[in-house]
Amino acid sequence: MLSKVYWGNPRQTQLDARETLPVKLDLILEKLNLRERVKGHRVAIKMHLGSNVGYSTVHPVFTRKVVQAVLEGGGNPFVTDLPHSVADAYKRGYTAETLGCPLYPSTGIDEKWVTFRPHTYRNLTGFYLGGAIEEATFLIDLAHVKGHPDCVFGGVIKNLALGCMSGATRSAMHDVFHDEPYFFKERCPDEATRVAIRDSCPYGAIVDDVEDPDGLHLHSFKCNQCMRCQEVADGALVIRRSNFEAFPEVNNIAAKVVLDTFGRATPCSSTSPPTSRRCATASASPGCRCCLTPASLARMTSWRWSRRRSTCWRSPRSLRRTSPA
Ligand code: SF4
Repeated sequence: MLSKVYWGNPRQTQLDARETLPVKLDLILEKLNLRERVKGHRVAIKMHLGSNVGYSTVHPVFTRKVVQAVLEGGGNPFVTDLPHSVADAYKRGYTAETLGCPLYPSTGIDEKWVTFRPHTYRNLTGFYLGGAIEEATFLIDLAHVKGHPDCVFGGVIKNLALGCMSGATRSAMHDVFHDEPYFFKERCPDEATRVAIRDSCPYGAIVDDVEDPDGLHLHSFKCNQCMRCQEVADGALVIRRSNFEAFPEVNNIAAKVVLDTFGRATPCSSTSPPTSRRCATASASPGCRCCLTPASLARMTSWRWSRRRSTCWRSPRSLRRTSPA
């Protein structure tokens, strides 16, 4: 399905507030009908807030515009990012006062507010998804674009894919390159050849393997696939395109894991409010995901249940917060 894309041109032809980007963002938010869509929702505004002195991020004035629109629409917004970015976000101008809503670490203060979402890909068996994303009922992916040595560009996909996952998952995602062997000791005749392969890279992408004195390690983010090393390696070091494609691919998978937690209501024939943590309706449709935590039950009985009539329109998100038992 094609999506409509609205573009606010940064070009300004007159000294007029209506030609500024913040006002153009307001127009885009109107076009998106954001206010009409967020009523009653707990809205996660996923950003990357930078870290330390990294300031090439979305300026707080734009975030505040989005927050205001959510508030005007009756939503309950919060800005979220990785714990270390939230912890010092105030240094780069992001505070509850400047943005107009709270900031929460997506995976908890200690990266323990996570839920495991199984999915096998290379070295990963699944993704530890942040609780702030789990708890949200509406997602705004408010990302900036930047160059990235492993996936060319970082933008809305990477903002979700890495920015909503625990540190352990982020590490594993960065390691997908190394899941397939690329240095074959048995094809390397001697130490001199190993050193020659290492030193053949003009970018310093090939280094000694700290875990194996006879091995080599490739820094994928430094390698531009010029293939100079291949003339020396003679099969001992293999530069595979598939390894370079693995990082963008795992980002796509992780972004889907995030998006799959939103907006996919599973019809259910239940017509009565749940009375316990789990939806105790014997007539629940196969795959029904009405099982609720006390917190989500409380939310549901406040505003959700009032809209629940003959079918359950809850998204599958509630299930993720509960064990299947
Ligand atoms: S392909 Fe080029 S950049 Fe990559 S490791 Fe080999 S020599 Fe270095």
